[in-house]
Formats: sequence, structure tokens, C-alpha cells
Amino acid sequence: MASFEKQEKGLIIMEIIRAENMDFKYNGAKALDNINFKVNESDFLAVLGPNGSGKSTLLKILAGINELRSGRLIVNGHYIGNYESSQYAKIFSYVPCDIYTPYNFSVSEIVIMGRAPYLKWWEDYRSKDKSLTCEILESMRISHLAERNINSLSSGEKQLVFIAQALVQNPKILVLDEPTSHLDIRYKMEIFGLLNKMREDKKITIITASHDINLVSFYANKALLLNKGKQMFFGRVEEGLNADNICRAYEISEVSKSRLSAMFKL
Ligand code: ADP
Ligand code: MG
Repeated sequence: MASFEKQEKGLIIMEIIRAENMDFKYNGAKALDNINFKVNESDFLAVLGPNGSGKSTLLKILAGINELRSGRLIVNGHYIGNYESSQYAKIFSYVPCDIYTPYNFSVSEIVIMGRAPYLKWWEDYRSKDKSLTCEILESMRISHLAERNINSLSSGEKQLVFIAQALVQNPKILVLDEPTSHLDIRYKMEIFGLLNKMREDKKITIITASHDINLVSFYANKALLLNKGKQMFFGRVEEGLNADNICRAYEISEVSKSRLSAMFKL
């Protein structure tokens, strides 16, 4: 299938993900109900909604972990089911929310594993894989952790390491599940800033689940709001990330709405 191209205000906009009528069930229980959205190259999409609303389920469908049985998902011009996993890993990276690390690799060993899709299993990492790893560690200001054992790190430091691994993979699409949940405010701002820079410089499409409404409204250009598996809003941040929609999605009472507006400047 050809890639979708659209002429808009003189610019060619490349559509990179199209989701149509997507449903998902776990053992018969509906977790997603009729999800529809479109994401273009270089978009920054925030997926928001209360706990249990289906954010991680949706990201796992995009990552090919949850197999889509109902609806359509077209990624970079092809149905997701038509990709070989090695081929998909060259365009798509996914950072899950809490990563269990029952092994004792160093940070640099974990980060360079992001280069695996570009190598045969018997091949060693090349000097360009090593230099890219150093470059990303440097840009994320975590070079000092390179030799540390992954299990000796704090949850926030671990989060940074797996974001670095995803970036080393050099994807067209980067999906992150609550990537800043364990980070302090400085790192939260740095990570969102870095993701935004990747989006601007390399035209990477960023999709992130997050509860950081302030950060999201500053950096993301599109938002998808979920509640109990249903889509409450999809569209441009400035059109839909307002107090009414946030209250509807998070089931916040009318009484608390003005406080929410003041807190999040909505
Ligand atoms: P969120 O990321 O928004 O907190 P999830 O996508 O993790 O929400 O979960 C959506 C719903 O699906 C919840 O009701 C959750 O309990 C259920 N769910 C998630 N993963 C599984 C699973 N592996 N098996 C059964 N139910 C699941
Ligand atoms: Mg989740």
C-alpha cells in the first residue's frame, strides 16, 4: 500500500499511523472500544486518561504486543499484521512503563542493545553502534552511569536508560508509556525537551501516555483522551485539552473544575 500524503497549506504532510475502529478485549472484557485517530510524521501525540482507561493497552497494540483482532491499524503505509518483527523494530521503538530487569547488564550494554535490529545475531556491534550509544548517553546527560549495573539505579535513572535504548534504535516512531513517572521535574522537562528536539530535528513521531498535563500541553500537538476504553477526544491540543474534556475523561466533578483550570492553566 502506498504511503498517505496530503497537501496542507503548501506542506507535504506524511501520515504515519492511522487507526480505524479499533476494539480490544482481554478474555472477553472490552478494554478499548472504537478507537480512531491519525498521526503524521513529526507529530507529538499525548495519550491521556485515568488509570485503567486503556492507555497501555493501546500502546501495546501499536507496539505489536497486543494483537489487533478488530479494526484497522496502518503504520507507515502497511497493516501492522504484515510486518516481520525485525522489520518493524527498524521503524518503531517502545518504552514500557515499568521495566523488570532480572539481569546484571551495565547501562551501556543495555543501551547498545537498541542496535540489535540492525545486526544479525552472530554479528558484533560496530564502531558506529558504539559511537551512537555514547552520543545518546551524552545528549541525555547520563554518560556517568555507563558502567553502572542496571539494578543499582533508581527508578528514574532506569527510565532514562530505557529511553536511551529506544533512541539508539533510531526509530521513525517512538512510543513511551508514562516515561516521566519516576523522574524529578528537571528530568521531566529535559526528557520532554529532548523528545521534542528529536521530533523537530529527525521528524520522529512521538506518542506518549502521560499524566503530566502541563508538560503535555506545552509539548504535544495532538491529544487522545480515553475513559473506560472509549475515546473522549482526539485532535489538536489547543482544541481539546481543556477543562471540560479533562473533567469528562478523568470524571472530575463540576465543583472541582475551576480548581483544575487554575492548577493546570486550562
Ligand atoms: P491504563 O494504562 O490507562 O492504566 P490499561 O490499558 O493498563 O490502562 O488497562 C485497561 C483495562 O484493561 C483495565 O481494566 C485493566 O485492568 C485491563 N487489563 C490490562 N492488561 C490486562 C491483561 N493483561 N489482562 C486482563 N486485563 C487487562
Ligand atoms: Mg498504563
